Amino acid sequence: MAQKKQYERPIIKPLNTGLMNKFGTKTEYAPVKMIDGAYVKDLIKEYGSPLFVLSERKIRENIRNAKRAFETRYPKVQFAWSYKTNYLNAVCNIFHQEGSWGEVVSIFEYKKAIKNGVPPEKILFNGPDKTDDDLTIAINNNSCIHIDHLDELYRVIELAGELHKKPRVAIRVNMDTGIYPMWDRFGFNYENGQAWDAINKIIASGKLDLVGLHAHIGTFMLSAKAYGVAASKLADLALSVKRMFGIKLTYIDLGGGFASKNTLKGSFQIGADVTPEISDYAEEISTALLNAGFPTEDLPYLYLETGRALVDDAGFLLGTVISNKRLSDGRRATIMDFGVNILFTSFWYDHKISPAQDFSHHTEESVLYGPLCMNIDVVRENVTLPPLMAGDQVVVHYVGAYNITQSMQFISTRPAVVLVDMKGTPHVIKRKETIEDVELGEKIPDYLEKFEL
Ligand SMILES: *Cc1c(COP(=O)(O)O)cnc(C)c1O
Repeated sequence: MAQKKQYERPIIKPLNTGLMNKFGTKTEYAPVKMIDGAYVKDLIKEYGSPLFVLSERKIRENIRNAKRAFETRYPKVQFAWSYKTNYLNAVCNIFHQEGSWGEVVSIFEYKKAIKNGVPPEKILFNGPDKTDDDLTIAINNNSCIHIDHLDELYRVIELAGELHKKPRVAIRVNMDTGIYPMWDRFGFNYENGQAWDAINKIIASGKLDLVGLHAHIGTFMLSAKAYGVAASKLADLALSVKRMFGIKLTYIDLGGGFASKNTLKGSFQIGADVTPEISDYAEEISTALLNAGFPTEDLPYLYLETGRALVDDAGFLLGTVISNKRLSDGRRATIMDFGVNILFTSFWYDHKISPAQDFSHHTEESVLYGPLCMNIDVVRENVTLPPLMAGDQVVVHYVGAYNITQSMQFISTRPAVVLVDMKGTPHVIKRKETIEDVELGEKIPDYLEKFEL
């Protein structure tokens, strides 16, 4: 006979954000003194503080894991590195060495990919802002243009005529995947027929080579299921294209947006506990595609433009405590030498922060401020940390995605970025910015050259 489950008295507890809850607040129990064999102290001594550090080992591990997760479940998989997530050339090239193509959202990124040596036909050109000049370059290069809106579609048709080329295109499709608010500002909507309409227009023109369908349903998507829905809807469109026009699409591109291990602000549990594994996303997507009804020999390629989930946890920001003070309400405040100017993602994540030296086990709730002279420069509104002294060092985790590409040059120059290679040897992949870098594009009109005070 089945054992009766033991009764557990229910507990009702109000949850106050920022205060202790049933699960307690997470505290770091061990200092982080090393990154892949390189000492934090030595790195700061050599390259200054603050300092971004990227782990080559982690990046390679992440992309290999992701490839394995998808390739074991689906026969035709191609990753394309999302340049905007982190477009330091050294980082892009690690991904290219691992077989990733390039995914770009502007001509600036497109040119970076070309300079890095990505064959142009292996660049996926996304984004709503492609000028005629940009499109001309992409068409002449035979890159894949992912069309975002009707105006762009008409421009590509016109340019195809002028250039006597048949551009390879896909359309970006947005759709209801059960996640709200829906990202419907990019691409053509599935449910209201816009996507089908765009497909009809492309085929009726006779001037474009429709090769794929693209979606990027959102970012930091904690639901793997949503990708299954997106894959089914794109598969449905692809099958309709085959049925109506006899055209077999080469690929279905499910974009990026897989969550990293970061903790979203206001989240009850820490990110590492709630983020789906890459294999969860892979399972949903491959199951949807395999069950969609394609004959096996006609299965489309699955393209993925995963960004943050492959690089966030490979990035660390090292920093130093400038000072401590008490706020008027008695709370401890710690001022760091890095702020939201270089840690842009602190606007939406509660970053995990570890002291980089031994510490006592006494902890205190603190506010972590950056060094900028502005009120919004808060790195953590509420974090339980051992008391840190001026000069102590910290390691901020999961900062490899978007911080370097979105950093602001404000009040001071930006820090160096170091890549720790597979053997634990650091390499500067971007030196610290200088005043000359910042002033490079400036010009002073003659009449403003001189003044007397
Ligand atoms: C930003 C972006 C990505 C990468 O998103 P992540 O959240 O970093 O995975 C992929 N595709 C497109 C079209 C994007 O705009």
